[in-house]
Amino acid sequence: MSLADPRDVVAAKRDGRTLAPEEVEGFVLAYARDEVPDYLAAAFLMACYVRGLDAGETLALTRAMVASGRTLPLEGISRPKVDKHSTGGVADGVTLVFAPLAAALGLAVAKLSGRGLGHTGGTLDKLEAIPGLRTDLEPDAFERQVEEIGCAVAAPTADLVPADGKLYALRDATATVPAIPLIASSVMSKKLAVGTDLILLDVKAGSGAFMKTVEDAVELARASAALARDWGRACRVAVTDMSQPLGSAVGNALDVVETVALLRGQERGRLRDAALVFAVEAQVRLLDLDATEALARAERALDSGEALDAFRRMVQAQGGDPRVADDPMGVLPQAPVVRPILAPDDGHLAAVEAETIGRASADLGAGRKRRGDPVDPAVGIVFRPKIGDHVRAGQELGEVHAREDEAAVVGVERTLAALTWSPSPVGVVPLVHGWFD
Ligand code: URA
Repeated sequence: MSLADPRDVVAAKRDGRTLAPEEVEGFVLAYARDEVPDYLAAAFLMACYVRGLDAGETLALTRAMVASGRTLPLEGISRPKVDKHSTGGVADGVTLVFAPLAAALGLAVAKLSGRGLGHTGGTLDKLEAIPGLRTDLEPDAFERQVEEIGCAVAAPTADLVPADGKLYALRDATATVPAIPLIASSVMSKKLAVGTDLILLDVKAGSGAFMKTVEDAVELARASAALARDWGRACRVAVTDMSQPLGSAVGNALDVVETVALLRGQERGRLRDAALVFAVEAQVRLLDLDATEALARAERALDSGEALDAFRRMVQAQGGDPRVADDPMGVLPQAPVVRPILAPDDGHLAAVEAETIGRASADLGAGRKRRGDPVDPAVGIVFRPKIGDHVRAGQELGEVHAREDEAAVVGVERTLAALTWSPSPVGVVPLVHGWFD
């Protein structure tokens, strides 16, 4: 599609006009072909950010992003295919548990994941903490692994939705990330380019999420669900709590340790509950089970070691050391300094600035400031209490894993500063705020 003058498209959006689908598609595809300069695309994004995009424009943007590259139809996979994606949070290791769990339940999870950005963790960084593990799978190898094992977690190839890769980097550099239509089209273009039978989207709401309020998260959920509907794809979107870290590990190797404990059925809590919520939804939609039966099957797969076995096979197939499933501490890198986080007083945990804990972990080296920076797999923060828990002064709340003692001290201080305590009991925050489709 050619574009007469991209400045006219920018000017139209700047002045608040609704763009025709051809204008949006022409602009975005020309940008993907390097025919529109970054400065003009940045102006376009800011105009979209300020003026907003309606449902038709958001759909046109999504179409253009998908059309900018190859798709992955996954036609060679015989099991029902499910994709699960989170908009990003702190201690959000659901994918690492969900993928092998769903595989153990007879489903196929072909998961293209991202890296951590800002305060949020990324599944690829976590998995790559396992020595030898590769996430740069070729499309054929990726599909073969999903067919054989039931799950694979890999990085998207550069030719899958390349317009999103370019636009996302530009948004990151121009303060235009947190716009609901831009996020919805960015997330959904990557889901729609892959041929799955069901898309499960986990839109996070709260202090550790991009969407700080449930209202904004619901708007993003509805916009994302509408895109899937217009595309004729089955999609269920949950708005879930991110007002505190979901699990307890905020790092990379630390998350894998937590994943293995969950896959062994050894740990209970909100991260396990979240993985079960999505495993139930996938089975209800794709295997025609009722919710009670689906939950019982998923719990059995976790508690019997079947999900752990699928994880071990996935790690091995991707070149990682499979002993991580049996002895994670013996296989994963460990930080030289571990400092406990001690409760300053008796009290009930009332609120957590989850983003602060995510940033503190990233600053220890677990995250990156810029795309392409390396991450330190060993460092991070473990923080166990949840809102509503009562603790005693001096009780160990978790620990900071660092390269140096000075950094560990700062990590402890920043974690404690992120907490609000109450002398009176505090209610538990619901895990799921609602479902949308
Ligand atoms: N994740 C994405 O893939 N895109 C966004 O815009 C935000 C989060």
